[in-house]
Amino acid sequence: MAKPFASSADLEPKQETLEVLGSGVYALTAEGDPNVGAVEGEDFIVAIEARATPAAARDWLAQLRQRTDKPVRYLVLTHYHAVRVLGASAFEAEEIIVHDLTRTLIEERGKEDWASEFGRMPRLFKEPEGIPGLTRPTMTFAASMTIPLGGSRGDLELHYCGRGHTAGDIVVWLPKDKIMFAGDLVESEAALYTGDAFHMDWSTATLDRVARFGAEAIVGGRGRVTKSRAESQAAIDQTRHFLNEMRRTVKDVRGRGGTLKDAFAAAHSALAPRYGKWPIFEHCMPFNVQRLWDEYDGVDWPRIWTAERDRAVWAALQG
Ligand SMILES: [Zn+2]
Repeated sequence: MAKPFASSADLEPKQETLEVLGSGVYALTAEGDPNVGAVEGEDFIVAIEARATPAAARDWLAQLRQRTDKPVRYLVLTHYHAVRVLGASAFEAEEIIVHDLTRTLIEERGKEDWASEFGRMPRLFKEPEGIPGLTRPTMTFAASMTIPLGGSRGDLELHYCGRGHTAGDIVVWLPKDKIMFAGDLVESEAALYTGDAFHMDWSTATLDRVARFGAEAIVGGRGRVTKSRAESQAAIDQTRHFLNEMRRTVKDVRGRGGTLKDAFAAAHSALAPRYGKWPIFEHCMPFNVQRLWDEYDGVDWPRIWTAERDRAVWAALQG
């Protein structure tokens, strides 16, 4: 039987868990759905990620409001993907902060990405008619940025670690607590999406930089929060292993003169024993292998996913 397209048949609501990681540091996880977070300043909040729609974001804010009624001054978006940014208006933030290249990507492909992700993950788009349009940043940066939290709370730092899950991912770092919000650069017990990725950079220098922070807790893009130095390193190692296995298998098939479909089969069978049961594995793999194949073909800047191209690649590889 043909596999249903991407996550279009995944309609069961997920259990949400609000975790308090430190004084005024929150993460909301949801069994592999995109994670969100928040950090309290002395008289404001920094929110991290915005969910797919304002209605979905308001559900998260309602939980946060049981802990604090401070206003959201900053909304930090780790990258441009629709399911993380289109709920931004609900936060009424003074500033929306992204990396310079994320701004470029939103202008270049934000519309197409919206249609693509809506088709792939309809359950995440609660009341999609409430989305006012593309989310555009009010502040961007290239290397790093610091937000003083006030009082004795220390600083919140934003850092670019190189090209990875997209061209413009950033990590959010609390040096005082050694807590990192890593966006989709690190996943813990969730499959990686690499359809817009730079596999070679991500699996080498970028993850090296992420590891050098020595985080004692990591909130990844999806999946569970790590709670120790060892667990955090294990999540980084898992992310790297997933990427390296894709690189090894796809390169091997190309070396033997195989096809894209052969590469998909090889990568799938290498990864499925360890990662096949994790959220969104089947959903991601066709898009992942297509992008890696393109990279080996010399396509540096990722091709734009459209709703139509999604369906064609799915039919060719998972159909
Ligand atoms: Zn993403």
